[in-house]
Amino acid sequence: MPPSDTSALINFDQVVKRFGDLTVLDHLDFSVAPGERVTLIGPSGSGKTTILRLLMTLEKVTEGRIEVDGEPFSHMSRGGRMVPANEAYLRPRRKRIGMVFQQFNLFPNMTVRKNLTEAPVHVLGLPKAEANERAEELLELVGLSDKIDAHPTQLSGGQQQRVAIARALAMRPEILLLDEVTSALDPELVAGVLDVLRTVAETTDITMLCVTHEMGFARDVSHRVLMFDKGRIAEEGTPDEIFGDPREERTKEFLRSVL
Ligand code: ADP
Repeated sequence: MPPSDTSALINFDQVVKRFGDLTVLDHLDFSVAPGERVTLIGPSGSGKTTILRLLMTLEKVTEGRIEVDGEPFSHMSRGGRMVPANEAYLRPRRKRIGMVFQQFNLFPNMTVRKNLTEAPVHVLGLPKAEANERAEELLELVGLSDKIDAHPTQLSGGQQQRVAIARALAMRPEILLLDEVTSALDPELVAGVLDVLRTVAETTDITMLCVTHEMGFARDVSHRVLMFDKGRIAEEGTPDEIFGDPREERTKEFLRSVL
């Protein structure tokens, strides 16, 4: 087994994920450094979303290990042995990771303000005034200060997604996972959401792991691009390398299909 990279914030070590007979991730090794922005590209079904879901602990690894910040994440030590991490172990660690999904998943019965303050107050234990102040700052960042008292149903899809980004950031995560956040949007709303994410990338040092088909955005914000095929990394490199001069035929073919 290769030694884990101790400077990494996220480390996948020989991770296998199977659903029944289907191997979705096949002995996957990769690391993400603190502050790094990594984009995952590749054909549908190549395992990209599963990687994010493992980090959100919505799925469990079949084999291998995940570490976050040098600590076991998929597993925990018990009686000198490593066993699958349980809920009590994961709860405090999961708070360090925020995720934005394709579907906006806002709480429909709460105002925008409440969507942004609920978890910071009840999960992080922030005083209400501080959570409110943070909510206002974040709404300014996503350009929706005037919508603080609106309900999600009163917002466009793009505005809801910008609120969902603000809500994820309200928890002050170290890691932000973005799963095709513009795929469900009408085309005219995509640019506004991507602009917000560009601002987040430029103004924070948050580590980002992003699954997207928006290649222009990937090129602008990523430090590194991983091209997936059948649960393995087929090729990786800087955006210039992957988009400008891909080596693998699979990468060339995939890029032809999306560009
Ligand atoms: P991608 O994000 O690259 O499109 P996914 O990680 O979503 O790929 O999915 C990889 C494969 O795993 C797909 O074939 C998908 O159908 C399968 N898969 C994902 N989740 C489940 C599940 N809960 N049960 C069974 N199969 C699943």
